[in-house]
Amino acid sequence: MSLDNNCLFCKIIAGEIPAEIVFRNESVVAFNDISPQAPTHVLIVPILHVENAAELAKCSPTITAAILSAADEIAIARGLTGYRSIFNTGAEAGQSVFHAHLHLLGGRSLAWPPG
Ligand code: AMP
Ligand code: ZN
Repeated sequence: MSLDNNCLFCKIIAGEIPAEIVFRNESVVAFNDISPQAPTHVLIVPILHVENAAELAKCSPTITAAILSAADEIAIARGLTGYRSIFNTGAEAGQSVFHAHLHLLGGRSLAWPPG
């Protein structure tokens, strides 16, 4: 499905809910996370509505790669010397919005392992 009427991120992509858009191309939209966990906390979201990253990879390896490329482009533009990119998949892993998205986190040192 390309657009889900009940999906928060589809509504942001459609401009129905405001967000601080920081990057956009033909495949993805990126906006600041509303509850940032680092100085840079950007969500990179495919315009195509799919539930998670694995589904996206099955549907479109090209768009999956475009998400990673967009993350790197944003990080380079901000002068980040390192960053973390995370796809949460499933509620147990902390996924709360079921439209695939990559968290780009940077601008501070990040602990490992994550919580
Ligand atoms: P996840 O928990 O991996 O599904 O990530 C969902 C992310 O979306 C969380 O980090 C939320 O803070 C973020 N979020 C929820 N609502 C909004 C919103 N309206 N605008 C921007 N980010 C949001
Ligand atoms: Zn959606």
